[in-house]
Amino acid sequence: MDLQNGAIKDLWKDIYNTGDLQHCYNCSTCLAGCPASYGDPPLMVRNLARKVLLGLEEELFEDDTPWACVSCSRCEEMCPMDVKPFELILSVRMWQATNDETRVPPSIVDIYKRGYTQAAGANQELRDSLGLPELPVITKNPEQLKMFQEMLMKTPVVSANDYMFGG
Ligand code: SF4
Ligand code: SF4
Repeated sequence: MDLQNGAIKDLWKDIYNTGDLQHCYNCSTCLAGCPASYGDPPLMVRNLARKVLLGLEEELFEDDTPWACVSCSRCEEMCPMDVKPFELILSVRMWQATNDETRVPPSIVDIYKRGYTQAAGANQELRDSLGLPELPVITKNPEQLKMFQEMLMKTPVVSANDYMFGG
């Protein structure tokens, strides 16, 4: 790996230049409402903040969890320190993509295979216990999923890497 950005001690400036990141005290409030924190592997915003602040470039570069973020911005509403965690996620993604333009995040493969970055409908047992109906997720409708995949296959990122998508 040949990371293009500057000295490790200045990584946080390269990746995220508002300075609020230094106010993160690892409280985890941002995880409380984050749908991607239930993913596999989970997106742990506080861990990303630590990696950036400590200059752990290699670990940060290999970390695919920022791509599981669904852009809901709940973390930004909940953070007591105005760290702007979602902005951090976007900055990390941009930094990774700048350093490897061929990167195909696993979340894109997930979207192709099941229609979502997260496993929608995974809580059916809990829904059953509450008397709630099944969610009409796209994975339960093979025809719709096929149409969705055909549409995605026309995009450059999927068609150029079709071996990853079972094409
Ligand atoms: S980003 Fe905000 S909410 Fe998340 S751990 Fe840091 S201070 Fe807490
Ligand atoms: S914007 Fe991303 S990181 Fe923030 S709560 Fe939503 S999914 Fe989680």
